[in-house]
Amino acid sequence: MTEVINPATEELITSVESHSAEATKDAIGRAAYAFTRWRTTAPAERAELLRAFARAVDADIDNLAALEVAEAGHTIGNARGEAGNVRDVLNYFAGGVERHLGDQIPVAGGVNVTFNEPLGVVGIIVPWNFPMPIAGWGFSPALAAGNTVVLKPAELTPLTAIRLGELALQAGIPDGVFQVIPGKGSVVGQTFTDDSRVAKIVFTGSSAVGEKIMADAAKTMKRTTLELGGKSANIVFDDADLELAAATAPYGVFDNAGQDCCARSRILVHDSVFDRFMELLGPAVSGVVVTDPSREEAEMGPLISAGHHESVAGFLDGVDIAFTGSAPSGAGYWMAPTVVLPKSPNDRIVTEEVFGPVVTVQRFRDEAEAITMANDSPYGLSGSIWTRDVGRGLRVARGVDSGALSLNSHSAVRYSTPFGGFKRSGIGRELGPHAMDSFTETKNLFIATD
Ligand code: NAD
Repeated sequence: MTEVINPATEELITSVESHSAEATKDAIGRAAYAFTRWRTTAPAERAELLRAFARAVDADIDNLAALEVAEAGHTIGNARGEAGNVRDVLNYFAGGVERHLGDQIPVAGGVNVTFNEPLGVVGIIVPWNFPMPIAGWGFSPALAAGNTVVLKPAELTPLTAIRLGELALQAGIPDGVFQVIPGKGSVVGQTFTDDSRVAKIVFTGSSAVGEKIMADAAKTMKRTTLELGGKSANIVFDDADLELAAATAPYGVFDNAGQDCCARSRILVHDSVFDRFMELLGPAVSGVVVTDPSREEAEMGPLISAGHHESVAGFLDGVDIAFTGSAPSGAGYWMAPTVVLPKSPNDRIVTEEVFGPVVTVQRFRDEAEAITMANDSPYGLSGSIWTRDVGRGLRVARGVDSGALSLNSHSAVRYSTPFGGFKRSGIGRELGPHAMDSFTETKNLFIATD
C-alpha cells in the first residue's frame, strides 16, 4: 500500500494498493485482449463512447477537483480547470476518430491507399505535478486511435487517475480498454517498459527516468513519446510592455508552485531596462496569493512532499536572493516565491531544473546574446518573448530551440496545438491536430487494377 498525504496539511488522506509486476502483467493481458474488439469498434461508436466519458468527467468536476486539491495541493481554481481539460481533450479527440484520414496516392497500374492502424496496448506513465491533464493528453488520442491503455499514476498522486478509471467504466468504455494501475515506477512502470505486449510508452517525468525508459524500450522496439524536464527562458526586451511583462512573470513561473515543466524559470532582461523591471517585479511577486489551496483566492499552494521541499530548498543554499513573496507557516510543505540574482551563468540555480517557486533574473546586451543565453541549456521545452517589435519577436522565436513558445504572453498548453520539447526536454509531440498519428502505424496498400 502507498500512503497518500495532503501536502498542505501533512495529513494522511488514504492508502492505495501498489500493484505487483504480476498484477501489472495481468492488466496488460486484459488490455491486449480488449484491443482485438476496441480496434474494430465502429468509428462513430468509439467516438460516442469517448464523448460519454467526457460527459462523465464533466459531471464529476467538483469531486475530481477536490481530490486534486487534497492529494497535489493544487489551487481549487487550477484543479477545476485541469478536470475540465480532461473533458475537453476527450471531446477534441472524439472528434478525431471519424476524421483520421489516410491517403490515396496516384500510382501506375492500380490504386494506392494508406491506413492508420492502431498500435495495440499503450502504457502511459504520469508524474505527480499535473496528474489529470497529463493522463488525458496521453489516453484520449490513444483510445481515439483504437488502442487500449494501461496507465500508471505517480505514487504521490494516484487518486484522480483512479477516479478517471471508474468514470470510464461508468460511461461504457469496455472492460480492459482503459485500466489504471497504481504502483511504483520501478515495478509497474518498469513492467510496462519491459513487456513485449506493450507497443508504446508515453512517459512524462524527469529526464533521468526518460533516458532509462528510452533505453529499455529499445529492447522491444517500442514506440516512445517522452515529455521531460525544462528550464525555460522568459526574454524581456527594452521595447516590451514592461509593466505587463513584470506583472505576469510570477505567474509564468510560480503557477503550481513552480512544479511545472513549462515554468519560465530564467528571466532574461535587456540591460537598459533591468533596474526598472526589478522595481516592477518586486510588488508583482509579493502579490502572489500563497495560501490554503482549497480557498478560492489561492494562486499558489504548497510543494508536493517533504522530500521535494528539501530538494528545492537545497538550491537556495548560498545564493543571492533579490526578494521573496510570502507563504504560510506551520504544517504543509510551503515555500515562498523566490527571486534569485545568480552570481554566474554556470550556477546550479541557472543550469538545473529546480521544479519549485524559484526564478533567476539575468541581464543581456542584445538580441543575439538573448538567444544564446536562452539556448544555453540542455532543455528546450517552452519560453516567452516580450517585445513590441513583431519582426524581432519572430526572429527570436525562430532562434530559440524550444517546442512551445509564446510572444507577449505566457501561454498555457492548449489541447488544439502541439506540445513537446527539443533536446533533453523529450521526443515527440502531444495534443494538436496530429497527435493521433503518433498512436498509429501507417500501412500502405497497393491494389492492382490492370
Ligand atoms: P519521475 O521521473 O521521478 O517520475 C515520473 C513517473 O515515472 C512516475 O509515475 C514514476 O513512478 C515513474 N517511474 C519512475 N521510475 C520509473 C522506471 N524505472 N520505469 C518506469 N516508470 C518509472 O518524475 P516526477 O518527479 O514525478 O516529475 C517531475 C519531472 O517531470 C520534472 O523533471 C518535470 O519537468 C517533468 N515533467 C515534464 C512534463 C512535460 O510535459 N515535459 C510535464 C510534467 C512534468
